Amino acid sequence: MHIPNDDEYLSKFLKGKGEMIELIRNFNWSATSLGHPSSWPQSLITTLSNMLNSRFPMLLWWGPDLIQFYNDAYRPSLFGTDFHPHVLGSKAKDSWLEVWTIIEPLVDQVINTGEPTWSEDQLISIFRNNKVEHVYWTFGYSCVYDELGNRAGVLVICNETTEKVLALEALKHAKSELEYSKKQVENDRDNLNNFLLEAPAGICILSGVDMVYEFVNPSYQQLFPGRVLLGKPLIEALPEVIGDDVLNILQQVFSTGKTYRAEALLIPLAYTDKGEIIDRYFNFIYQARKDFGSDEVNAISVFAFEVTELVSFRKEIERSKNTLKLAIEAATIGTWKVDYKTMEVILSEKTADIYGFSELHVHLSAMEDLIVAEHQERVVEARMLTFSSESDFKEEFCIVPIGATNSKWVKLQGKTYNDMFGEPMFMTGTVMDISEQKIDEIRKNDFISMVSHEMKTPLTSINLYVQLLKMKTEEDENGILSKSLKKITIQLKKMESLINGFLNISRLESGRIYLDNELFDLDLLIEEIIADNVVMAQGFEFNFRSKSNVSIRADRYKIGSVLTNLLGNAVKYSHDRKKILVDCSIKEPGFICVSITDQGMGISNKEFTKLFERYYRSESIKASTISGFGIGLYLSAEIVLLHGGKIWVDSEMGTGSVFNFTLPIE
Ligand code: ADP
Repeated sequence: MHIPNDDEYLSKFLKGKGEMIELIRNFNWSATSLGHPSSWPQSLITTLSNMLNSRFPMLLWWGPDLIQFYNDAYRPSLFGTDFHPHVLGSKAKDSWLEVWTIIEPLVDQVINTGEPTWSEDQLISIFRNNKVEHVYWTFGYSCVYDELGNRAGVLVICNETTEKVLALEALKHAKSELEYSKKQVENDRDNLNNFLLEAPAGICILSGVDMVYEFVNPSYQQLFPGRVLLGKPLIEALPEVIGDDVLNILQQVFSTGKTYRAEALLIPLAYTDKGEIIDRYFNFIYQARKDFGSDEVNAISVFAFEVTELVSFRKEIERSKNTLKLAIEAATIGTWKVDYKTMEVILSEKTADIYGFSELHVHLSAMEDLIVAEHQERVVEARMLTFSSESDFKEEFCIVPIGATNSKWVKLQGKTYNDMFGEPMFMTGTVMDISEQKIDEIRKNDFISMVSHEMKTPLTSINLYVQLLKMKTEEDENGILSKSLKKITIQLKKMESLINGFLNISRLESGRIYLDNELFDLDLLIEEIIADNVVMAQGFEFNFRSKSNVSIRADRYKIGSVLTNLLGNAVKYSHDRKKILVDCSIKEPGFICVSITDQGMGISNKEFTKLFERYYRSESIKASTISGFGIGLYLSAEIVLLHGGKIWVDSEMGTGSVFNFTLPIE
């Protein structure tokens, strides 16, 4: 007997064409749990026939093993997988092993209850195109009953919606991006608005041909305090612009659309309504605003900075520069500038002339090489200190100019300028030929020294005779002779200290001042000097408060002269309040500090350092009758420095002064 094969049998009722019909017909169903198609129930054959003739993607799982069928419409979802055609006739569980946990509950629901399922855009990832692909499906499972009314199979009607879902997601993404961009634009607009309102530049918008103030920020309004601008045409709000160039410029920007920039442009304008029209200077930009997508200008944006003060400063600086230039030319002062990076010096003609250079650019070493040997080290050290500390440089020294045989004295002054990071950039200053002045000074010093010497001899003899006379008149202490002798002694002491001062100066100048150190009790010396001064300072009260009890190694005579000078000054520069305090104590380790406090006229703090310069007398003293030569403090300072100490003053005008000096202790 001929048993028809599956194909022969199935061809009877599986009509039509299609890949899946062919495959189902040729499949060896006898090898599955469904058995030979001749044993298939009519319900399976009918469902299968409907499914295979449908253009809607469908799967059918039949029997207890859920043997799988699918139609041509479902086929594309398996492209790129190795499922097709192997999953035909296989168990549903084996075909969809990876996603069975998602599918099984749905299948169970249908088989156990007959209730259909519905899932929309459900993600079921499958291995396709050599990778795990996220595939979305909209599908429904429905129950297929057999002839006996048993739940025999599950019909899966499905549609792959991956493209739709992805398109939707892309759309959602695009929408949220759009919303984000919208927010961003709104944010930017708010920021711009705030920026325009808070900008330190004056900003306004002049709208239309009439140039009506459409927007005015507070900084712009401040340029015209109290004047009503907003909503008014320019020529109404600021009528003074009529006839001024600025109006033409604005009209040109309007007609050409071209941006106009100006720096320090003069525009005569008033600050307030009815205020005086004055010359004001502005940096500004006029920028045309056009309709979107058109060339038509509809407004002008104005950004303006008032620079009137800056311009007047600049003019002032220009004037000062010219005056300075004239002054420098007239005073025959040379100028120079050292670049720190290259150590190149730019010289003015006068400087080149003083140094004998024929060119105006030289290396710093070329200038310093011309300094005479005995001054070179001092000058270079001072210059290096100025380089590193931004302090002033001020030195007097001798150079032998190029081509000259004799040296000349020069005075060099300068200052270092740092860049914005605090790094030294350059040093600039002046130079003056002070040879004549120096020669005069030397002559004067020689003369003073000679006269002082000459005067010292007769003074010593007078002193001797006075001492002799004093001894002779001792019995008659209150007699006229005795009183006169006391007065003569005071005057002699004053004269002696003056002559000694001059002599010391000339010794100092010529480097002939030496320290004759010995160990002595400082308190005792102070007491002696106070006692000497009491004689000369009638009515003054000296109070030696704290004593040090130290012995120091120093030149007793010279320290005595420092004390004499400071106490003498305390007396000389005090009128009504006649209390003088002397302190001697250790304030910093290794040094004894002597302070002399008076309640006199005081000194302005501007003069604190100048007081110790040679021949310096304070401005307020010069006009008064208090005599002096301005050498006492200079000499005192030199003596203290020679000992390795410091000297300084603290003072307040009208209250009094404290002169302090320190000396090293052993
Ligand atoms: P001289 O007293 O001869 O002028 P000094 O060198 O001793 O010279 O003093 C310099 C200047 O300092 C004085 O001219 C005076 O202006 C000021 N000076 C010094 N001591 C005092 C003081 N105790 N009080 C006020 N000014 C003083």
